[in-house]
Amino acid sequence: MVKNGARISWGFSEREYGSDVLANQMTAVKKGDDYLLNGEKWLIGNAGRSEVFTIFARTKKRGGPGGFSIFAVEKKDLPRDRFTLLQREKVVGLRAMDLSGVRFDQCPVPASALVGIEGHGLEYALKATQVVRTMIGNIVVGCSDTALRVTLTFARNRQLFNETVDQIPYSQRQLVECFSDLLVSDIMLICATRALQVSTNQFSVWSSVIKYFMPTMLEKSICQMAVVLGARYFLRETFMFGVFQKMMRDMGVSSLADGNTVVNLKSISLQLEGLLEKGVAAQSASLDTEMAERLSTIFDLDRCVPSLDTEKLELIAEVAMTSSKGLRAASQDIANPQGASGPNSSSNTPSAFRTNSPSSTLHIKA
Ligand SMILES: Cc1cc2nc3c(=O)[nH]c(=O)nc-3n(C[C@H](O)[C@H](O)[C@H](O)COP(=O)(O)OP(=O)(O)OC[C@H]3O[C@@H](n4cnc5c(N)ncnc54)[C@H](O)[C@@H]3O)c2cc1C
Repeated sequence: MVKNGARISWGFSEREYGSDVLANQMTAVKKGDDYLLNGEKWLIGNAGRSEVFTIFARTKKRGGPGGFSIFAVEKKDLPRDRFTLLQREKVVGLRAMDLSGVRFDQCPVPASALVGIEGHGLEYALKATQVVRTMIGNIVVGCSDTALRVTLTFARNRQLFNETVDQIPYSQRQLVECFSDLLVSDIMLICATRALQVSTNQFSVWSSVIKYFMPTMLEKSICQMAVVLGARYFLRETFMFGVFQKMMRDMGVSSLADGNTVVNLKSISLQLEGLLEKGVAAQSASLDTEMAERLSTIFDLDRCVPSLDTEKLELIAEVAMTSSKGLRAASQDIANPQGASGPNSSSNTPSAFRTNSPSSTLHIKA
């Protein structure tokens, strides 16, 4: 279906239960060659436009981690009188978005609609969310980038006190801080996307870090930009058709969709104990060749990364984190700028932090 370009929507959430996904009530009961779907999914992005619903449903009455499965259901095959599209919701950002839900009433779907193995639905959903959480970083970076361009256009052209706003020291500082936040996020996102393909088995942690950190930092940053824009930030039409406000509203979705900020913090905290143990172990161990190679592949933008192998996604990061080991190596690099030639250096220090390649230099046009 995906390879044929079908539009697919994701029916995971339920109105009553939100983040408490194990409480979800939609059922899929096996009957002969079919499963009967019963219940409601809300909110679903593109529920109306999609050709296929993927539905997360309870296949064991008692539920629990092994009690849910996923079904990929083609709309055209469903009996029209057994499902109803819910009313489209009006939203404050992403206003063109088709956001609604679907209700099934003893709706038969063929057993072939089951994705993977029955009872593995929660595992598949949690693994898929690691990819989505990483990709959501693009929304915040995109919105922040546009908002900063709008703010700069204003600051460069607005005359006040015989100078332009971008010459006022306080405004300069705000703009530089916002630009730095954007650069940090951009670099983090590029490297995380590369790392998803290189250190796939660690993404239960990386994806939650991205999903927590980037919206938190850039939502704060866009509020700083609003201060520079002053009254024009509040007007709908006078300055650049209110596009700044649109960016601010659109950005909001990134902190709540696919696991809100608190859910991501919780996901990190649940893995923290194991990570700390591995982090301590990583401090005593030297950076082996495999790890150094892995770090180079992630952080040297000239290098090719392998395709994403989703089979490598894990629910809990099982191995010593590339990032914690790399951080230690990077701090050694900083403390000892002579690098591998210095007396205290390790020959395994990753070259990615010291690359001389001109194309891996960031050219910053402020
Ligand atoms: C634009 C948009 C698009 C969406 N698209 C889809 C889609 O395509 N498919 C889909 O299935 N769903 C979709 N959703 C639903 C979205 O994923 C839900 O919002 C999500 O399930 C969280 O539920 P909730 O926001 O109702 O928050 P609730 O679960 O009601 O949580 C409320 C608050 O409780 C606190 N909280 C929640 N969990 C915890 C926790 N574990 N620990 C501590 N505090 C906690 C947090 O402060 C949280 O903000 C979409 C939502 C929006 C807004």
